[in-house]
Amino acid sequence: MTSISNSLSIKHGLSLWCPHSSSLNRTLHSPSLPSGRSFQRRRYVVASSAFANENREFVIVGGGNAAGYAARTFVEHEMADGRLCIVTKEAYAPYERPALTKGYLFPLDKKPARLPGFHTCVGSGGERQTPEWYKEKGIEMLYEDPVSNIDIKKQTLTTNSGKQLKYGSLIIATGCTASRFPEKIGGNLSGVHYIRDVADADSLISSLGKARKVVIVGGGYIGMEVAAAAVGWNLDTTIIFPENHLLQRLFTPSLARRYEELYQENGVKFLKGASIKHLEASSDGRVTGVKLEDGSTIDADTVVIGIGAKPAVSAFESVGLNNTVGGIQVDGQFRTSIPGIFAIGDVAAFPLKMYDRVARVEHVDHARRSAQHCVKALLSSQTHTYDYLPYFYSRVFEYEGSPRKIFWQFFGDNVGEAIEIGNFDPKIATFWIDSGKLKGVLLESGSPEEFQLLPKLARSQPIVDKAKLQQASSVEEAMEIARISLAD
Ligand SMILES: Cc1cc2nc3c(=O)[nH]c(=O)nc-3n(C[C@H](O)[C@H](O)[C@H](O)COP(=O)(O)OP(=O)(O)OC[C@H]3O[C@@H](n4cnc5c(N)ncnc54)[C@H](O)[C@@H]3O)c2cc1C
Repeated sequence: MTSISNSLSIKHGLSLWCPHSSSLNRTLHSPSLPSGRSFQRRRYVVASSAFANENREFVIVGGGNAAGYAARTFVEHEMADGRLCIVTKEAYAPYERPALTKGYLFPLDKKPARLPGFHTCVGSGGERQTPEWYKEKGIEMLYEDPVSNIDIKKQTLTTNSGKQLKYGSLIIATGCTASRFPEKIGGNLSGVHYIRDVADADSLISSLGKARKVVIVGGGYIGMEVAAAAVGWNLDTTIIFPENHLLQRLFTPSLARRYEELYQENGVKFLKGASIKHLEASSDGRVTGVKLEDGSTIDADTVVIGIGAKPAVSAFESVGLNNTVGGIQVDGQFRTSIPGIFAIGDVAAFPLKMYDRVARVEHVDHARRSAQHCVKALLSSQTHTYDYLPYFYSRVFEYEGSPRKIFWQFFGDNVGEAIEIGNFDPKIATFWIDSGKLKGVLLESGSPEEFQLLPKLARSQPIVDKAKLQQASSVEEAMEIARISLAD
């Protein structure tokens, strides 16, 4: 290790922006030197040889999607070898987490995805970073040893096993944990599953292998993806949720209806607007059903809870949380208010420049990009603010023999009036228009060229001829109208 690289982290580890407001809609300020505050150099004792003592130059806490892409960026800057340490709760090197409710849950006879097949960074066409890759690159991996405490003054982390790690610069990439049902209503019963990591997915697979009746609680991404997987296992499947339709945060009622009909054609039952009282159990503590507030019971031998996730901040509350969107507050370069400490991925509450608000984004595209942006800012002279364009996608029913594969992408903001074009056979598109501008687009089963157009549209927000768009007789025609509006 050299002191040169350390001085780089000192330079860029300084937080130039102290968040004062946690408001979702607060006005953003450009990072500027806080007046009256003198910068302190980070005290850091350089290790005499790589990882020989408790000192680490760069530490990433969390070994998920963001950590994998951050590691790659350290390697690209030749700053990983003997300098970077990743401390993770899981037993595996970073992997592309979305696979867990997609290829990983394929029926066992339909070539399910398994590690090492989907280690980062294969999801974006990059190298498959196996545990050997980390060894070859000189990156220290500490597996199954979560960080339980931080001493900011001493720049020291303590892990569950009692290990003490001093860091020069620290990147927090702890992601989220699945929200759970309380134990008193049956949240911990045998046969009740949550899905966040490989261990959870393996446990679910072992239940699916024996299951007959599956109930999925939650009509969001996780619920939709797990239900599609359960169909592949030929299981009696019911989705229960309190909203009026699937993926209420994004889908319009009309768009949701198309997907719901497809699920119903595949045998999935829906219970909408339902609230759950508790889960019922047999005398041996295994789940037997879901009791609803209206007094009815839905039988189930397997229950999957997909009701959202919470940022994993418990060890890092002293770093500075955002009380509105949750997570750790950072600026446009992922710096927290503590010099030398950064946060990326799901756990970061960052300025969403395009829409002038602070946000937390629980999506893999942001995990990848925030990791790259943060590490570049830390290691190079990059100073520009992260400018993220929200992007969500899902793919379901992709296993062999499935009657219909589903693949949609959404870019932008789902605000204003929604215009739907197409009949879902196979394509459908929804355009969100606000004050004459195209703000967001969702496209199902588009061509590669059409999908490539979506971020351009959402980023440019062109003025579109609404009447013309509404009259489009096909998705292709509507996309062409939108494309032409880019040139206006
Ligand atoms: C089942 C599933 C399906 C998904 N599907 C999609 C999708 O289709 N499209 C999409 O855009 N996004 C999807 N997502 C979201 C996407 O996976 C996340 O946005 C992304 O993984 C976030 O990356 P991250 O590194 O911030 O967090 P994570 O990938 O969750 O990694 C966090 C890591 O930190 C570890 N950790 C937590 N606390 C500690 C600690 N104290 N010490 C050490 N380690 C710790 C965790 O164990 C984990 O390994 C999905 C998520 C899940 C769970």
